[in-house]
Amino acid sequence: MHESSIDVRPFSVRLSLHGNLDFFLPPRTRRKDITRSLSEKTSVKDVIESCGVPHPEVDLIVVNGEEVDFDYGVINDAEIEVYPPEIQSPQSIKKRLQVNTMERFVTDGHLGKLTRNLRMLGFDVAYDPEAEDRQLLDVMDRENRALLTRDRRLLMHAVVRTGYCPRSQDPDEQTVEVIRRFNLLGLIAPFTRCLRCNAPLQEIAKADIIEELEPLTKIYYEQFRRCTGCGQIYWPGSHFPKLQKHLEKIRANVDG
Ligand SMILES: [Zn+2]
Repeated sequence: MHESSIDVRPFSVRLSLHGNLDFFLPPRTRRKDITRSLSEKTSVKDVIESCGVPHPEVDLIVVNGEEVDFDYGVINDAEIEVYPPEIQSPQSIKKRLQVNTMERFVTDGHLGKLTRNLRMLGFDVAYDPEAEDRQLLDVMDRENRALLTRDRRLLMHAVVRTGYCPRSQDPDEQTVEVIRRFNLLGLIAPFTRCLRCNAPLQEIAKADIIEELEPLTKIYYEQFRRCTGCGQIYWPGSHFPKLQKHLEKIRANVDG
């Protein structure tokens, strides 16, 4: 995508990628500085994305010392500094391009375990393993969610305002990344959301559900929660200590 072209002489831009934005460069050529030759006026967003960095990963752009927006048109030789959200730039920032917190997400079909972890921590995550790209973008837009996906092309879609590409392939590490990126540590509320359907859980009196319980559950447990969406009943059963340990590990890694 280029803006309407006026005849300009060819020029070259140099991009410096800060933080871990070099993650998006091809592995063999992974360097922090890239030079690009251009022959027409091009938005700085397109210049950056042509290098492989999706715009939701970019929080600050400085062109020849000036902070600019994504639609800034590059027309001459330029030095472009590109910063991710977690990195502070040397100067005070006026044009932050990303939100620094978001509690609602939509995940693509490959991120089922990340989804489960985030729901376990109490976060609202829309997830449909069958969803097509179009549907993910619709849910993101309509319900004001951040898009989580490792598909960079999808993250580059023009309608995406807030999103993140988990660097790790490990679901627990991905969870730590998302908590850090969106500053979620103080908002964790474990076991308040249904792992199956994402609806909030509600405390419920044992007497109200006693008929639905297995004989041993009836004997050993007193505290129950029911999903306000699908009706699933939760209690701190034999799997609970393991889940809690799992959560503590994630929390410790965020702090560490
Ligand atoms: Zn449910």
